[in-house]
Amino acid sequence: MVKKRILVLGGGFAGVDCTRKLERYFQSNYDIEITLVSDDNFLLFTPMLPQVASGIITPRHIVMPLRALCEKARIYESAVRDIDPTGRHVTLEGTPEKRGVRIHYDYLIIALGSETNFFGLKNVEKYSFTMKTLADALSLRNRIIDMLEQAENETNEELKQRLLTFVVVGGGFAGVETAGEVNDFLHDALNYYHNIKADDINVVIIEALSGILPGFNEKLIEYAHNKLEKNGIKILLNTVVSDFDGTNVITNKSTNPTTKSETIIPSHTLVWAAGITPVEIIKSSVFKTKKGQIITNEFLEVENFSGIFAIGDCSRFNDTINKNYPPTAQLAEAHAKLAAYNIKQMINGNEKKKFEYNWKGQSAIIGKRSGIADAMGRKVTGFLAWLIWINYYLSKMPNFEKRLRVWLDWNIDLFFRRDISRYGFKRNILKEYQELDEVDDVW
Ligand SMILES: Cc1cc2nc3c(=O)[nH]c(=O)nc-3n(C[C@H](O)[C@H](O)[C@H](O)COP(=O)(O)OP(=O)(O)OC[C@H]3O[C@@H](n4cnc5c(N)ncnc54)[C@H](O)[C@@H]3O)c2cc1C
Repeated sequence: MVKKRILVLGGGFAGVDCTRKLERYFQSNYDIEITLVSDDNFLLFTPMLPQVASGIITPRHIVMPLRALCEKARIYESAVRDIDPTGRHVTLEGTPEKRGVRIHYDYLIIALGSETNFFGLKNVEKYSFTMKTLADALSLRNRIIDMLEQAENETNEELKQRLLTFVVVGGGFAGVETAGEVNDFLHDALNYYHNIKADDINVVIIEALSGILPGFNEKLIEYAHNKLEKNGIKILLNTVVSDFDGTNVITNKSTNPTTKSETIIPSHTLVWAAGITPVEIIKSSVFKTKKGQIITNEFLEVENFSGIFAIGDCSRFNDTINKNYPPTAQLAEAHAKLAAYNIKQMINGNEKKKFEYNWKGQSAIIGKRSGIADAMGRKVTGFLAWLIWINYYLSKMPNFEKRLRVWLDWNIDLFFRRDISRYGFKRNILKEYQELDEVDDVW
């Protein structure tokens, strides 16, 4: 058999699942070379990022080294600079410390995921926090602690209010789960901050649509909405953020964008979880895209390029062929499975299979060990839904050691107070808290 080279781009859910599946298919076939390229050398378990931000889970417990997960594949920790589908090669970025490499392939899987979409709001991009990487979660945790430390000794009530207002933009999974965790962390941390009252804390969710958690059943949404509000979180629906200068969040009504209905929320901390967009390398590629995502056929192959597959957040079905689903880890996993299978079929000269999505339900956590779940047709709320969430995501962690560590983190959290020590690095914020130019002579 002539050697075949399979190249997988992206070490997220889609890329790693696909590589592992291919490894299983070709375990003892030395004529098949599998290569995985990712700019990080680990798989990040994103659904648990908000809990890293709130300090419940230790950061390194939600990352798994690619080399431990994919043992047969050759791994390059590098950024993809160029994909050439005609010459059938991919170029990896060269830096002063790293040699640029060109990798040739027979089969290619593009699983490069997405990045945060700021919809062209430059100031928001400059001053806001995001929730996409481990560094994002740690920066947000540090920020919350910083704000508490400053607010504790702040004598000006207006400034104190601004320091203790945390705005999360986006009422999807990432936004709601982040807001719930931030709110819990702030309230639990009050044990240490005697000059801050629970009423001083202000967590706000801003959502452009008329409801949070789109895609969930109406009753579950209503439950989540009421529960979040009961926990003290303010939810502003039909509202969009139009600007943020690091001090004030400017909002407008999304229902009537022509009327000036500007409202200002004084806050130093804005978390942007309002949308994703595929990475630049895909947007500027020769592949046919829609909303930045590569269009695929029913076999998940990129249109006009046989043997090239696009999976996960960076791909979308040709609209006329099949229904589009929101980008989730569950969908990425299903894509990965089929793309690996179809490559095996192609190599063996067999028929490819069409993508059929067997939706298994969904769940979200909303803070205070509570959640909502749509599991196998059953609608579950509260603590039980939270249990479903943690068990489902634990079972999805591909590494037993990490599963155990996260489980221990959750259990330890039940018995001890939150750790409010800040990690020893500062995020490079361009504009910091400038009101303190006027130094109060408080001592
Ligand atoms: C905070 C948060 C919470 C979430 N919660 C849930 C949830 O509860 N349930 C759910 O189903 N989904 C959830 N999601 C969505 C889920 O994480 C994504 O749908 C899923 O990660 C998509 O997988 P992917 O492999 O397509 O992309 P990713 O996981 O984003 O992986 C892309 C990979 O490509 C790498 N990469 C990107 N560009 C380059 C480049 N140029 N060169 C080399 N490598 C590159 C990245 O480093 C990354 O490893 C959440 C997401 C976030 C951010």
